Amino acid sequence: MRYAEVSVNSPVAQRRTFSYAITPGLDVREGQAVLVPFGERILQGIVLELTAVPAVEDTREILDIIESEPILYPSDISLARWISDYYLSPLFDTVALMLPPGFERKAITFVSVTQPDPDVSSLNDDQKRVIDIASGQGGVELRKLEKPLGKKKAAAVVSQLVRQGILTRSYELGPIRIKPKTELYINLTSDDVNVPELTAKQSAIIDYLKEQAVPVSWVEVRQKTGCSKAVADALVNKGLTAFYEVEVKREPISYDNITISEPLDLTADQQSAFESIKSSLQKQGSPPDIFLLHGVTGSGKTEIYLQALAEALKLGKKGIVLVPEIALTPQTIERFAARFPHRVAVLHSRLSLGEQFDEWHRIINGEFDVVIGSRSAIFAPQPDLGLIIIDEEHEWTYKQDTSPRYHARDVALKLAELTGSVVVLGSATPDVESYYKAQNGDYKLLELPQRVVPTAGAALPQVEVVDMRDELKAGNRSIFSRSLSEAINEAIAAEEQVILFLNRRGGATFIQCRRCGFVLRCRRCEVPLAHHIAGDVLTCHQCGYKAPVPQACPNCSSRQLKFLGVGTQKLEQEANYTFPRARQIRWDSDVTTGKSSHETILRRFRNKEAEILIGTQMVAKGHDIPSVTLVGVISADTSLNLPDFRSGERTFQLLSQVAGRAGRGPSGGRVIVQTFSPENYAIQAAARHDYASFYEQEIAYRRQLHNPPFTRLARLTCVHTNDVICQREAERVKKMLTEEMNARGISGIDIVGPAPAYIHRLRGRYRWQLILRGSGLSAFLTPIAFPQGWTIDIDPMALVQ
Ligand code: ADP
Ligand code: ZN
Ligand code: ZN
Repeated sequence: MRYAEVSVNSPVAQRRTFSYAITPGLDVREGQAVLVPFGERILQGIVLELTAVPAVEDTREILDIIESEPILYPSDISLARWISDYYLSPLFDTVALMLPPGFERKAITFVSVTQPDPDVSSLNDDQKRVIDIASGQGGVELRKLEKPLGKKKAAAVVSQLVRQGILTRSYELGPIRIKPKTELYINLTSDDVNVPELTAKQSAIIDYLKEQAVPVSWVEVRQKTGCSKAVADALVNKGLTAFYEVEVKREPISYDNITISEPLDLTADQQSAFESIKSSLQKQGSPPDIFLLHGVTGSGKTEIYLQALAEALKLGKKGIVLVPEIALTPQTIERFAARFPHRVAVLHSRLSLGEQFDEWHRIINGEFDVVIGSRSAIFAPQPDLGLIIIDEEHEWTYKQDTSPRYHARDVALKLAELTGSVVVLGSATPDVESYYKAQNGDYKLLELPQRVVPTAGAALPQVEVVDMRDELKAGNRSIFSRSLSEAINEAIAAEEQVILFLNRRGGATFIQCRRCGFVLRCRRCEVPLAHHIAGDVLTCHQCGYKAPVPQACPNCSSRQLKFLGVGTQKLEQEANYTFPRARQIRWDSDVTTGKSSHETILRRFRNKEAEILIGTQMVAKGHDIPSVTLVGVISADTSLNLPDFRSGERTFQLLSQVAGRAGRGPSGGRVIVQTFSPENYAIQAAARHDYASFYEQEIAYRRQLHNPPFTRLARLTCVHTNDVICQREAERVKKMLTEEMNARGISGIDIVGPAPAYIHRLRGRYRWQLILRGSGLSAFLTPIAFPQGWTIDIDPMALVQ
């Protein structure tokens, strides 16, 4: 007998596999999708390993295989296990990351009689009844027997009869939720269609169909003849034509406006970076190289990605390219599609399930050289993987904030190790931890110090830091410093465009009573409610709770409520008032809910339908708008003041990105940063475009305060409706962890807390957290069973969540 270790789709399975026996004759391989009995139920599972000896004595048998071919590669299996072990996430949840879209379905049990007219003389009434019902053609669903007999009895009787060989069970998966996309076609049913009583329109359709040598879709016929469906239906009724469905491939990339692009002649800097990647691809070394490609926006990183991919293809290898979701714009996709026409697959969350389904199957069939997508595209079933590229590698969105809480970059590095693929991490502002690894020699550092300068003046923009304290001293209480408003007026007069950046949504960001100081807060989260000008409502930015603006203070009934703090909506109002001649467009998540509205906003701004674009961090991400000559950062302090060890890094990244929006065209650019902390090292370094000096400061702080990369972190959060119980539970778990450490002789792990989480209350539930600091955190936490209400985040991006 052979056995299989199966990852089963059940929440109770957690991080374990289960042993099943393989019935002789059933062709079960590693990576195969199977149906297995699990308690009373039949569940889907994936075979992760074949063994000669089961992990438990009593095993049940695999019932059936779901697809004839394995659906996971061996490298996927190792990767899933690694993610589950490292991030402490349920095994099937990590396996599910790699399965085809629409895979998860319920199994349905069928019951049928083994041979017609069985001998029923020795059977009781229930048994006879079951046989009677199950005797129909092809058997019946078990559910049909449960109705008359009850669930328990039906199962018992069926089991008895199966044992006697009178009945057999079989299993089928429920219907798949996605259907292949089809298109309606129409054809003639016979050649002899000279029927006299046709209307003119009917004849038009018949004549058109007669002329066609190849099958035609109904849409085409309708367009060419101008006839309605009713006309065609009448022909169908006469038996002259017929409709039929033809399966069509969904094609997320439209090639209508794409012209093929040829590789560019590389600059000297590009060439030397490219040569390093090229020789690494050819060398097939193990472990494969990891490159950190550091270059400001516009320095030609993407061109290197494209040429490195072409190089991998020459060697018979394929690639995966990750970009942040927000940067996965049609322009980005087009650049890859133009270089590798019809050989690029796109995966992101806005695709319909059907589109994802089609792309997945075409990828595993080897139809694409390049898969480009956001975070989860790292799990694309790309065969012969040889090159993984992660653009904007410092982006926080590569970390998933729900279970499995993986970081796509770390998953990519693991996958590269498993598949022998070369990795290229690209960024203008590398993650401090990545740069540290590059300094240490773990990664190979490639630098592109300059923008590719096609025209004079497209050098990096001048950045001016304005101290807002001086503005107050000079009696300027406006949100625009004198310098910024002057610059905006100049830009408008010169018919140039302006971007104003503010990383806060809404109108007023909080509302306070002038008399008693009371601040209006969300009843469920305790954070201040922001005022949204559109709709005149108060909104909680944590949970989305909405409330009308009260007439008076709920605390003291004073009518003097003051609207304080500035969000993008308020900024829009102020800009309208201060620069009446300029038209404005606002870009934040309150205005971009539809599928294409990002694109619409960008297109309108590019078409110069407005002079000023106001937005949150969306405006900061990789969009080229050549006529923007001025970028104003309304407040650099929003991210700086977060109580998190990464706030300096975050601020530097954001400011560098925003600054990169100015001067992408021939007229150059200028950036004005407003702040109350102009001396801050992150702001200073960003203003000078000086990554090196930012890094030196930052890494010194990290070393001093013992933060990553000098240690690792895990955040353990406890959630409860009662604040006191929540705190006590966190204290109890801290004690338990400390005892566990002592018992296992583990040292070098600190437990900080318990402390209320930064968002202390969310949707009516309180949150307390413990921070673990040290190495080997996953290994330490693995054997510990956490009670309900706890979440564990290994390598959290922020401690203030
Ligand atoms: P990044 O990805 O670093 O932002 P890109 O690869 O997008 O930089 O390059 C910026 C601009 O310069 C693009 O318009 C690109 O087509 C152009 N470019 C890149 N490399 C070259 C080159 N070697 N010769 C001419 N133009 C180039
Ligand atoms: Zn009051
Ligand atoms: Zn709330």
